[in-house]
Amino acid sequence: MKENEEKTLIMKCRKCEDKLEVLRQCKKVRLRCSGCGHEYHIHEVAADLDKETEEQLARYTAIIYD
Ligand SMILES: [Zn+2]
Repeated sequence: MKENEEKTLIMKCRKCEDKLEVLRQCKKVRLRCSGCGHEYHIHEVAADLDKETEEQLARYTAIIYD
C-alpha cells in the first residue's frame, strides 16, 4: 500500500483491487491496473467511474469510448 495518493487515481481493479491508472494511447484511453496490468476499456468501467476519474478523463478532450 502506498501512502501517497496518486493524483492520477482513482478506481480499483476488479481483479486485484490495485489502483487503475489512466493510460493514454494515441487516440484511445484505457484504465490499466498498476497491479496485475489488466486494461479496462472506458466503457467497461464507465458505470463505476467516480467523480475524480470522470473529471480526469474529461481532460482528455478526444476521448473515444470504443
Ligand atoms: Zn489488477
